[in-house]
Amino acid sequence: MTSLPTTLEGINHRIDRLDVTDYARTRNYLNGSVSRLSPYLSRGVVSLPYVMHRVLQRSTVQDAQKFIYELCWREYFQRVWFQHGDNIFSDFNQPQQPVLHKAMVCSVTKAVTGIEAIDREIKSLYATGYMHNHVRMYTASIVTNIADAHWKLPSQWMYYHLLDGDLASNSLSWQWVAGTFSSKKYYCNQENINTYCGTDQRGTFLDKPYEAITKMDCPQEVAEIFTPELHTPLPERQELTLNYNRPLLLYTSYNLDPQWRKSDDVNRVLMLEPSHFQKHPVSEKVLSFILALAKEIHGLQVFCGEIDELPEINRFPEIISKEHPAFRHYPGKKDEYEWMFKLVKQPKGFTGFWKDCEKQLTSLTPS
Ligand SMILES: Cc1cc2nc3c(=O)[nH]c(=O)nc-3n(C[C@H](O)[C@H](O)[C@H](O)COP(=O)(O)OP(=O)(O)OC[C@H]3O[C@@H](n4cnc5c(N)ncnc54)[C@H](O)[C@@H]3O)c2cc1C
Repeated sequence: MTSLPTTLEGINHRIDRLDVTDYARTRNYLNGSVSRLSPYLSRGVVSLPYVMHRVLQRSTVQDAQKFIYELCWREYFQRVWFQHGDNIFSDFNQPQQPVLHKAMVCSVTKAVTGIEAIDREIKSLYATGYMHNHVRMYTASIVTNIADAHWKLPSQWMYYHLLDGDLASNSLSWQWVAGTFSSKKYYCNQENINTYCGTDQRGTFLDKPYEAITKMDCPQEVAEIFTPELHTPLPERQELTLNYNRPLLLYTSYNLDPQWRKSDDVNRVLMLEPSHFQKHPVSEKVLSFILALAKEIHGLQVFCGEIDELPEINRFPEIISKEHPAFRHYPGKKDEYEWMFKLVKQPKGFTGFWKDCEKQLTSLTPS
């Protein structure tokens, strides 16, 4: 079980205790003041504008700028997903090169790479479902740029274990590291890991200057490979109690918003579609977290099945879900996705996107 808060009160407390100045100074360090809000943002419990405006109630735009900049990375990845759909699951801008195989690295999944900080944090990922951003980057870099694995399967392995698993942030970050969604690959070395993870390790396969790291062959520590079996242990299907005189609200593992149409007199059903989880498996821990969040939504029933298996779906006067690229096939009305910033033009790269957001952010500053 997870010890993370699942109530809105607990999540608000998490937002309110965030020190944005400290965040800006320390976020890259493993023991830095990061927010750990991603599980709630990914699962749609709270939206990006909700978090931004709540933070701005007690901080100036200037102080909160670094935090909002990071929130913008999520918004940017979502925008790319909305625009390009399933294309985010293939090499996006250019093919990954070189690629030795399309499997996963054994020593990474077993947390025995020999890099103390990485091994410790992979064990912690299994135990908690969370991994610090820097360690995600290090892990992805070791797998894709040192062991030369193609990014796709390893990204699925990481997604499987993350409570905050988000298909856009995950796929596109792996691609950013592997150089298929960016102009160059991301590399790390032992010195960088020591700096941000508080270790003092020497003599590892990453204990080299960057020049040597970018040119070295796959070290034996990360050479052994395998294909992980990722399977979502969905619960048994339960019978639903439905009132066909009332609308049907469809929730998903990406929309667990307890405030959504809260006062409406409706049927509320959380869809756990086997086809979705076959394509994008999640661990038992992740599923438990999703179900724990679902419990916070009054009257929400869980349905393990495909949308067209919902009993007599055509009888409802109205069907409503929230706009989302993974669930475009849902029938009925779609409530708009909640963005922080208006879209000025479709983003090509993050820098241009951030510039547009920054202009809008400045207009929020009281004169
Ligand atoms: C290889 C790799 C895989 C990733 N997979 C996921 C994933 O599946 N789901 C996911 O939510 N994030 C993913 N990220 C992005 C990032 O690591 C996490 O969002 C962040 O670490 C969450 O921790 P936090 O809430 O404490 O972040 P904070 O530093 O407190 O940031 C606040 C919020 O800003 C957003 N944010 C911060 N950094 C990023 C970033 N680099 N990219 C996108 N949004 C960001 C998140 O919504 C986060 O909750 C991945 C990054 C990498 C490098």
